[in-house]
Amino acid sequence: MTIKNTNDEQTSSTSTEVLAFKDVYKDYPDGDTTVHALAPTTCTIHAGEFVAVVGPSGSGKSTLLTIMGGLQQPTGGSVSLDGKEYSRMSRKELAQLRFSTVGFVLQSSNLVPFLTLEEQLKLHSSYAHEKYDARRAASLMEDLDIQKLHGKYPDELSGGEKQRAAICVALYGRPAVILADEPTASLDTSRAMGVADIFAQATRREHTAVVMVTHDERLLTECDRVLTIQDGKLQESTPEQASQQV
Ligand code: ADP
Repeated sequence: MTIKNTNDEQTSSTSTEVLAFKDVYKDYPDGDTTVHALAPTTCTIHAGEFVAVVGPSGSGKSTLLTIMGGLQQPTGGSVSLDGKEYSRMSRKELAQLRFSTVGFVLQSSNLVPFLTLEEQLKLHSSYAHEKYDARRAASLMEDLDIQKLHGKYPDELSGGEKQRAAICVALYGRPAVILADEPTASLDTSRAMGVADIFAQATRREHTAVVMVTHDERLLTECDRVLTIQDGKLQESTPEQASQQV
């Protein structure tokens, strides 16, 4: 991943570039004032990179992640996913690109409440016009230790199980990029490390890029890059510097 201040030279793009921000910023109106949630940012994320984003509450992490995933528009700048610029796409095209390219693990949970875990995976296959891949589903469920939960509805799962089920659904379609917002917040140390390991494997074996917001410094050692964000300003960091912010 490369990250630059807006005034620096444009980062050169490569064939493995998955996500590109050019001068992207986000302001929210707040009464008579404006919250500068994300300062102008130019960065690229490449296939197979495991990137952690660390920062205090209110620093702009969710804003960054939701703009990356096209869930909200920036105030200015351009965002491209897989070489396609969001602002040039219709809502339908953007939704299709998001479905085929991004796996979300959101705090609000990306599970459909009235489908069992297995049905969520089948729905994904059906929407993608692909055959249900029972072997992949079983292998992911086993890796995440949720194989016994395949017939359960989200309401029947604990917080930690729900989080692992959401990760399973996000990984199932082999997305180009996983955007995960504190995906291990409800997990104990061993399960949290297990999830980091599964993400790391996806980056190596399937060249998935993973961008993971986390407060868990134990996971930073698994990542290729650590970014810190403070008052909306994103910068590359070392795991040691990031640990001080956690
Ligand atoms: P984090 O995820 O790091 O906690 P956020 O991206 O949620 O940070 O928020 C960054 C800043 O933007 C905060 O000051 C927050 O209060 C503000 N903010 C976020 N969403 C909105 C919104 N919809 N309207 C107004 N201000 C917002």
